[in-house]
Amino acid sequence: MDYKQYITVVEDWPKEGIKFKDITTLMDNGTAFKSAVDEIVEYAKEREIDLVVGPEARGFIIGCPVSYAMEVGFAPVRKEGKLPRETIKVDYGLEYGSDVLTIHKDAIKPGQRVLITDDLLATGGTIEATINLVEQLGGVVVGCAFLVELTYLHGREKLEGYDVLTLMEY
Ligand code: IMP
Repeated sequence: MDYKQYITVVEDWPKEGIKFKDITTLMDNGTAFKSAVDEIVEYAKEREIDLVVGPEARGFIIGCPVSYAMEVGFAPVRKEGKLPRETIKVDYGLEYGSDVLTIHKDAIKPGQRVLITDDLLATGGTIEATINLVEQLGGVVVGCAFLVELTYLHGREKLEGYDVLTLMEY
C-alpha cells in the first residue's frame, strides 16, 4: 500500500523549518492503519517475539495493536515521573532537545525477545535510548518497526547491528 498518501506533512511545526509528518491521518483511515499494523505483525511473527516495547506516546499506538495480534505483552517506555513503580532510566538526545526515558524494572525478563515500535525514526535518539533500557534489563532486541523513516536524519546509523523495518521513507 502507498501509505504516504495518508500522512499529512505539516510545515513549520513544532517550529520553523520542520516538516512534521502527522500520522494521525493514517490512523484515521481504518484500512490504511490495519494494513500498516498487519505488516508489522508479519515482521513480528518472523522474529518469534515475546514482548513489544514502545516509547510514549505514538510508540503505544503502533505497538499495542501488534502486541494484541501477537498475543504477547506490551511494556511502555515513558518520560521520567510517569511510571508508578521502580524504574530504570536513560538520558537521551532527540530532534528537538533532550530528555529522560524510563521503564519499569520488572517489565522485561532476561532473554525475552523484544520488538520495539514507534511511529517515526528521525535522528534515532529515542530508539537508541529505548534499546538501551531493554538491554539494561537483559532483553534481546530482535527488531525495530516504524511507520516512517526520515532518511536525511540518518537514524539508521545508530541502529547498526539491529534489524529495522520502516514502511515509508522521506
Ligand atoms: P528521534 O529520536 O530523533 O529519532 O525522533 C523520533 C521521535 O520523535 C519519535 O518518538 C517520534 O514520535 C518523534 N518525531 C520526530 N519527528 C517527528 C515527525 O515528523 N512526526 C511524528 N513524530 C516525530
